[in-house]
Amino acid sequence: MKKLFLLTITCLFILAPGQVANAADAPDVYAGRMALYKNMEAALQIPWYYLAGADQYEHSLRAARRDLEPSKGFIGIHIEPSKWSGALNPDLNDVNPLTITFFDGLGQDGNGDGKADITNDTDRLYAFSKHLQAYGADEDNIRIGLWDYYKRDKAVSIIIGNAEIYKKYGRLDLHEKAFPVPVRTHYTYLNTWGSVRGWGGRRIHEGTDIFADYSLPVRSTSYGIIEMKGWNKFGGWRIGIRDLNNTYHYFAHLSGFAKGLKVGQIVEPGQVIGGVGSTGYGPPGTSGKFPPHLHYGMYKDNGITEWSFDPYPYLKLWERKDLAKKK
Ligand SMILES: [Zn+2]
Repeated sequence: MKKLFLLTITCLFILAPGQVANAADAPDVYAGRMALYKNMEAALQIPWYYLAGADQYEHSLRAARRDLEPSKGFIGIHIEPSKWSGALNPDLNDVNPLTITFFDGLGQDGNGDGKADITNDTDRLYAFSKHLQAYGADEDNIRIGLWDYYKRDKAVSIIIGNAEIYKKYGRLDLHEKAFPVPVRTHYTYLNTWGSVRGWGGRRIHEGTDIFADYSLPVRSTSYGIIEMKGWNKFGGWRIGIRDLNNTYHYFAHLSGFAKGLKVGQIVEPGQVIGGVGSTGYGPPGTSGKFPPHLHYGMYKDNGITEWSFDPYPYLKLWERKDLAKKK
């Protein structure tokens, strides 16, 4: 019974990764969001990039889950009506800030119109920011406030990662991508998604193999945070990078890593992270059991679970864009 239930929610939640640029990526959307974050920072002294990090996390969940409505305004942060009005509040649609506070609801009047309106971007962001402010505005306390809000370690680390990227660049428009190896070099790749492979038992191939010579530079495909770096008996020397859309990019069989690269570091599209190799299929250092290639995988997190999806169409797109750039 439990298994069946799990299967059902899995099917419900898994859908297209929503990576392709859409109306929500337009410049005026970024400007609108940034204005709201900055206003909130001025009002409540919560640094804007933490708000942006949490909001972007929720936007990414809404793009990846069918059971959540897409965000209608600028702000993706979603608050359940029962949390907004307060658990014991008889009026689930309460907009009166006084009764909401009385029933310990999260709802707030952020724009000063006298109503705590759950559909209003400013009110919702203000309510979320007030929740964080109660813990304190330094990173340690923000982490605690985020944990108390999401009850998920991974949500906290993803949001803090997003915040660090926003803080470093000072802008929201950071969705540029790059092909993982330099274009106009010798490499080949085919769509091998889902094919069965042998080593270590029957596993489905979760990625695309880009065959190239040893040590051809391997580059980050996105802005992101290095979440994982090290050895795995299947993947050899490998790196995992999480981007702002909450997509995890996996690079395996590397010959080695770029000098000084470490977990937690921010990377940019096109930044060299290692070289093509043939490591893996054995204890640390094993190499040469198959022709050199980069195994590139993409995984989507939806706040509950993580699954792999086919990177091939994205690789084609990024390759075309890199080729179109000036030589
Ligand atoms: Zn592969």
